[in-house]
Amino acid sequence: MGRVLLLGLDGSSLNIIQPLIEKFNLKNLKQVIVGGLSGPLESVIPYVTPPGWASVFSGVNPGKHGCFDIFNFNGLGTHVTNMRESKVQFLWDYLSKAGFKVVVLGMPFTHPAAEVNGVFVTGYPAPISAYPKELKSRMKREGYTTDIPKMGDENGLSRERWVEKVVTLASARAEISLKIMDEEKWDAFILIENITDMTQHLVMEDQELLGKVYAEIDSLVGRLLGRMMDDDIMMITSDHGGRSSTRSFVLNQWLWENGYLTPKESIMKGLFKRASNGLDEFLGNRAVKRSLSGTVRSLTKPLVSFLAPFIVSSLFDKSTKAFSIGTNESVAWVKLLPDDEVEKERVKQEIKNRLKMLKTEDGNPVFKSVTEPSEVYHGPRVEDAPGDIIVESDGGLLITNWGASDKGFFTSPPPAREGIHSPTGVFIAYGKTVSPGKVSAHVCDITPTILHTLGIPIPSGLDGKVIKI
Ligand SMILES: [Zn+2]
Repeated sequence: MGRVLLLGLDGSSLNIIQPLIEKFNLKNLKQVIVGGLSGPLESVIPYVTPPGWASVFSGVNPGKHGCFDIFNFNGLGTHVTNMRESKVQFLWDYLSKAGFKVVVLGMPFTHPAAEVNGVFVTGYPAPISAYPKELKSRMKREGYTTDIPKMGDENGLSRERWVEKVVTLASARAEISLKIMDEEKWDAFILIENITDMTQHLVMEDQELLGKVYAEIDSLVGRLLGRMMDDDIMMITSDHGGRSSTRSFVLNQWLWENGYLTPKESIMKGLFKRASNGLDEFLGNRAVKRSLSGTVRSLTKPLVSFLAPFIVSSLFDKSTKAFSIGTNESVAWVKLLPDDEVEKERVKQEIKNRLKMLKTEDGNPVFKSVTEPSEVYHGPRVEDAPGDIIVESDGGLLITNWGASDKGFFTSPPPAREGIHSPTGVFIAYGKTVSPGKVSAHVCDITPTILHTLGIPIPSGLDGKVIKI
């Protein structure tokens, strides 16, 4: 039986990859797409990194694994989502228990490293943690980093220099990862690379710069192909996709102008007048690393600039009934404040109906869906969802929580948001035993598919199904 090599490309999708293939001669990506099984990979809601990868590697929806967004929000306690805090089993747990050897490198939002039958190294935005522990110093010495260069021009980096810098980081990660691949015995090799997502956020509209990043990915795919043995199967999977961002909708402003939210004077001056860049401020923040590594469990001062919107009940006037929280993507949460359950339900249905009826200037609905957690998720963790209403937009409309707009609720996307996440990523399977063709799959399908490929019985309770490859 063959082995499985899985390359995780954060925020990648066929709509990004395909136009680059001919233009930049990405021959290895072309080989696996044309010669393999490929197609769109549907993500979970919200389509952001922690719930996306958690579903890829657990085979279950967020209602079961409990990773709902980049942050966990309960009352006034906020901390960064950590997949290690989930109670579910992940692919590497199933594989290790079945006696299979695994190498997992660059797993995002995970800390500390999982103890597996093999090797495990954490990825962004956590600090480096390795199993076995001795590996950590070597990873550092050989240039492996989970750091994310700051997006945008604020620190003086031009877009070109920024792309060069992330490509250099990815190249160093590839080098050490392939060395470990060669040294270790493994049945499943998993490597996650995130420059694909950072790049789509920053330079989605610049084919030349996207091409430089995907040339690095193409070279990595080529080196992985060169390491495949006869019956091995390579899979490429994303956690969500990417698409161009057209404009933003300021949800808290809508709640404010419709009488659900009254910010205190100081807050109006601060948060409403400043369009938050969100991800940039968040992922580059050292406090995030500290939160993930357990040094800091609750909100700390450096995080306030980004996370303030998430803990603002103390910042609003008492009459406030609802406010929005989220990650500056296409999905936001509305958190309801009334203690009285009857009143809370009334406000919830009222806000849901009004948001559903909201139309653009062209007469189209602004939002693709306005739902609540019990309609979207199933499982024991549904009640841990960060909000009471889930608002999802379509067509590249970003939902931001804050940002002044004199022209109504719509405004331009914040900086470093040429691209935002889309619900549709990419799945590719390639190998001598894989029949070429097209397929549509779901992030929850990846774990059962890998278990099946390696001949391991599928545990009960998974939400995904085996992809026929
Ligand atoms: Zn992601």
